[in-house]
Amino acid sequence: MAAPMDCLESIEDEGCAGRRASGVEVALPSDPAAPAPLCPHGPTLLFVKVSQGKEETRKFYACSACRDRKDCNFFQWEDEKLSEARLAAREAHNQRCQPPLSRTQCIERYLSFIQLPLTQRKFCQSCQQLLLPVDWREHGEHQLSAGISITQLRRPSQLLYPLENKKTHAQYLFADRSCQFLAGLLAALGFRRVLCVGTPRLHEQIRLTAPGEKSNMKSLLLDIDFRYSQFYLEEGFCHYNMFNHHFFDGKAALEVCKAFLQEEEGEGVIMVTDPPFGGLVEPLAITFKKLIAMWKEGQSKDDSHKELPIFWIFPYFFEQRICQFFPSFRMLDYQVDYDNHALYKHGKTGRKQSPVRIFTNVPANKIILPPEEGYRFCSLCQRYVSLENQHCAHCNSCTSKDGRKWSHCFLCNKCVKPSWIHCSSCNCCALSDHSCSGPKDGCFICGASDHKRSNCPHIGTSRRANKAVRKQKQRKSNKIRTEPLKDNP
Ligand code: SAH
Ligand code: ZN
Ligand code: ZN
Ligand code: ZN
Ligand code: ZN
Repeated sequence: MAAPMDCLESIEDEGCAGRRASGVEVALPSDPAAPAPLCPHGPTLLFVKVSQGKEETRKFYACSACRDRKDCNFFQWEDEKLSEARLAAREAHNQRCQPPLSRTQCIERYLSFIQLPLTQRKFCQSCQQLLLPVDWREHGEHQLSAGISITQLRRPSQLLYPLENKKTHAQYLFADRSCQFLAGLLAALGFRRVLCVGTPRLHEQIRLTAPGEKSNMKSLLLDIDFRYSQFYLEEGFCHYNMFNHHFFDGKAALEVCKAFLQEEEGEGVIMVTDPPFGGLVEPLAITFKKLIAMWKEGQSKDDSHKELPIFWIFPYFFEQRICQFFPSFRMLDYQVDYDNHALYKHGKTGRKQSPVRIFTNVPANKIILPPEEGYRFCSLCQRYVSLENQHCAHCNSCTSKDGRKWSHCFLCNKCVKPSWIHCSSCNCCALSDHSCSGPKDGCFICGASDHKRSNCPHIGTSRRANKAVRKQKQRKSNKIRTEPLKDNP
């Protein structure tokens, strides 16, 4: 998940009276063969600004990973021609922005570090770096921790501070309860390899074993946070951007990932991902499809119908959007808790229930949710559900999405949130304080209320082919990049 959740803004459907706003969408290139220009984070993405009722025609390239221009200020109009001099300057800038140490250097340093006696193993808090004796002088004035044990080295997510205030990384680490639940569940389901995409704490949990015990699960971490590079050998970490499937260390790193996915002819592997959700869903879906394709390449022909098992951890209000891209995915009721986020710790201890769920193509009836946390099995739905999620006889399913008890509305013919009431002037359910006169949740292009932008009959045929491109609901914003999102009432 991982977004600056304190200031998240509602992107969820607020009922039929939900406000229409403007935003930025991922766009299709005018020339599909045109390669995207590069920023320090790999190929940029093409965007288009969409504001109330109309879509601007001029598209632009911007960084795929950084939602804040302060973190990466790449900007180029799609039709903009750059001089040789500017291209060379950009190339030099991209080089300058790469990490100071190569992956190989990091591994050599790690191997030297673990050879040091305990008293000489120092970590610089200020630079977030393991130090070798040759580095000590340079970090003399910095804040250092000494006596870094092997146990500490195996839990880098506790040694490093989470990059939570940075929109780019938005690191929200799993609470122990959730992390152990996930690792236990993966083992119980019989997985032997876990591709951890943006889940550093799960990665280390999987690799942690009691002394003397041999782990029967392997894990590979793909993450944009280069600091993790210091703690893992080649087969443990790839510096990776999940918004454009970019391996910072080129083909060698891509091969590591490929070999991991294709081991045992692709048997026994699962991908688990917990992306920042301030980003757009579509580029993530495109990336995950590339990882799926990489896994598929290693399959023998008769396995062609099989799917790569995936856990995509994301807020429940993205359900529709995720299922558009991955129709076989189902949302589980399990509430994923985080350590460094007071608001979304578990319902009983934190202030609010976590909105974060697991989306998966692993059959829900195989996934046992902990009864001690209040989950129960619904035999009609054939899945574990939250305690208060009641089976609705009219909908024939356990309909609650947020863990609260929902109630059936006979006028809407569906179950709705407890805070919603049926509004006769809007002819649907909404928050009691909604404004009936507010702009209707109609089509972005023609304004009609009976369809959405993607089904608009006025949309050009080439655009309709791009049906998968969905808008992110956003508040009006003059900013070009996506605004932070907020949870719903
Ligand atoms: N709950 C997870 C961490 C999720 S936080 C855990 O405890 O293991 C989101 C993670 O995604 C962070 O580790 C962050 O560094 C990583 N990340 C953010 N943007 C990314 C990108 N563009 N590509 C790859 N990883 C990214
Ligand atoms: Zn960038
Ligand atoms: Zn049910
Ligand atoms: Zn119902
Ligand atoms: Zn109304």
